[in-house]
Amino acid sequence: MLDSASMDGISNAEGQEARWRKALKVGRIRQRVVEARITDPGQPAAELPRSISDSDRLAGDSAGPQHRPFLGERFEGGPESVVRCHDCAWAQVVDEDLHEDDVAGLFAWHVALPAEAVDHLLLFNVPLAIPYYIRWEDNNGLLALRDERTGGYHLRFNHECLAIFNSIAADGTLDGAIATEARRLGIARRPAMNDIVFIASDLYRKGLLRPASEPKVASPSRSDRSSSLRD
Ligand SMILES: [Zn+2]
Repeated sequence: MLDSASMDGISNAEGQEARWRKALKVGRIRQRVVEARITDPGQPAAELPRSISDSDRLAGDSAGPQHRPFLGERFEGGPESVVRCHDCAWAQVVDEDLHEDDVAGLFAWHVALPAEAVDHLLLFNVPLAIPYYIRWEDNNGLLALRDERTGGYHLRFNHECLAIFNSIAADGTLDGAIATEARRLGIARRPAMNDIVFIASDLYRKGLLRPASEPKVASPSRSDRSSSLRD
């Protein structure tokens, strides 16, 4: 089973420290949101949050109007929900295993870092990237995933998911995954591409992949980089 200790062995991308610092900050903000909800008797604890309430707005620590994310429609009429924002184009599908137990974590992340918003329901283009809030590793041939926004983790039980993450980590494209899939199944490139693009689309819709262009965020200063990730 995936746990915090095993995920600490991951070092698969440049800029990991910077992204981790940001993820940790989001985690702290999320904790404050959870605490605010617990201490607010007006908020039914067992109910899935419909939106960020006024009491939760202390989560934002930047100037400017607050974003108001909310739980939207079912995706294509299926069992999965979509989260959206009243104030920007942010949208993604809620993954049953990674997000459903903590939709408030997704909301808090978006309120804290609205500039990183992507409409994940649009068709994707390459190059793609693995978001900084996603930690992943090869767990005996399966893709082990953790989304730091919610703390959810999951093993993806198909070979294609791991091939896709390896491919995108290498060069931002799906070419490597398509070649791997064609070789593994002994099929031509075209049907292999159909499989890979279909599965990559699902990962993208759930915010587990993102466009490769990095959002504009401030880099941590040198003096802020003293402690190790593994402290
Ligand atoms: Zn927004």
